[in-house]
Amino acid sequence: MKILVINCGSSSLKYQLIDMTKEDALAKGLVERIGIDGSILTQKANDEKYVIEQPMKDHQDAIKLVLAALIDEKHGVIKDMSEISAVGHRVVHGGEKYATSVLIDDEVMKSLEECVKLAPLHNPPNIIGINACKALMPNTPMVAVFDTAFHQTIPEHAYIYPIPYELYKKYAVRKYGFHGTSHRYVSMKAAELMGKDVKDLKIITCHLGNGASICAVEGGKSVDTSMGFTPLEGIAMGTRSGNIDPAIIAFLMKELNISIDEVNDMLNKKSGVYGISGVSSDFRDIEEAAEKGEHRAQLALDIFHNRVKRFVGAYAALMGGVDCIVFTAGLGENSALSRAEICKGLEFLGFNIDEKKNNEGRGFAKEISTTDSKVKVYVIPTEEELMIARDTKEIVGK
Ligand code: AMP
Repeated sequence: MKILVINCGSSSLKYQLIDMTKEDALAKGLVERIGIDGSILTQKANDEKYVIEQPMKDHQDAIKLVLAALIDEKHGVIKDMSEISAVGHRVVHGGEKYATSVLIDDEVMKSLEECVKLAPLHNPPNIIGINACKALMPNTPMVAVFDTAFHQTIPEHAYIYPIPYELYKKYAVRKYGFHGTSHRYVSMKAAELMGKDVKDLKIITCHLGNGASICAVEGGKSVDTSMGFTPLEGIAMGTRSGNIDPAIIAFLMKELNISIDEVNDMLNKKSGVYGISGVSSDFRDIEEAAEKGEHRAQLALDIFHNRVKRFVGAYAALMGGVDCIVFTAGLGENSALSRAEICKGLEFLGFNIDEKKNNEGRGFAKEISTTDSKVKVYVIPTEEELMIARDTKEIVGK
């Protein structure tokens, strides 16, 4: 069974064609600048790179080109579109309705539309991507896999905000959490590496990328996560502030005479390690600047590590202990420095990092704790696409 996984952004689209027999990615690709001058598709398959530069006015054009690239006689990996058994779509927000992945039908599409007000930037391109695929592959089953679904097990006392309760009832204002597919994948993989049933484990997963979130996974279920109603809550990120005193918003609006949209933009796009360092939102640039002695770059890193550490401590307290900590995503998988800084001082929780293991090799799952460490620490490359394909296979197979 071959499954096409689609992850649609507003002007870009990532895809993978996965052969589920051995869970091999036959092709991986990225379409950029959809609807903008300079549209480009880059596909990697059979150890070669295939690039198509041609105008794509919308996502349907982009998906048409993806299918053409996949069946291309010279650079493709399948002979005919009919070889694609199903399509799995990443959807950011499933609201309270979806605690698991779901086969897409008219009712699901209606619910996705209803969720647009909760994720106005993310759900519309996801919906456009699904509609474009449906138009081109009307007889192929499609599955929606939600970023929020894994966190629907968070208990009420953790997802309700301490604001007037009616706001939850009337406007669905509550913690949803994101990166669920990644937290689910790496927690399952960690249990596999430990040779234990995930149901018996307390795991803290740290998805540290440009967007970043921490999750407490108890018995295989998310019991708390750092992102909230939107992905703005939680730890400081590349350009997002994460948690700040909410009174700062009103203060800035008054002092700077700016609108709520401008503050929102500031907190989402000009804050985080970018806003503090003034260097970049990319941790590689910040680490380099800090090494050269730039105070604000070092400060950005210190604030970031401090905030991650607070969540690790909080989640160990919430679960009454921790058996394993996982680092994943761009920074979590690649920055030995960040992992070491975050873990420093947390040895009292029962874990020790092996410096050599932390520093050597990347691109594969590895344990970085010492052999006598009570709590295991892992680096696990996240595989959100594989998780989407697995869910799609399971649902379509039913
Ligand atoms: P993601 O959003 O998961 O793609 O992660 C992107 C983030 O990972 C960016 O901020 C990158 O700077 C960071 N990153 C990737 N590789 C490294 C590295 N070798 N060292 C430090 N940060 C890295």
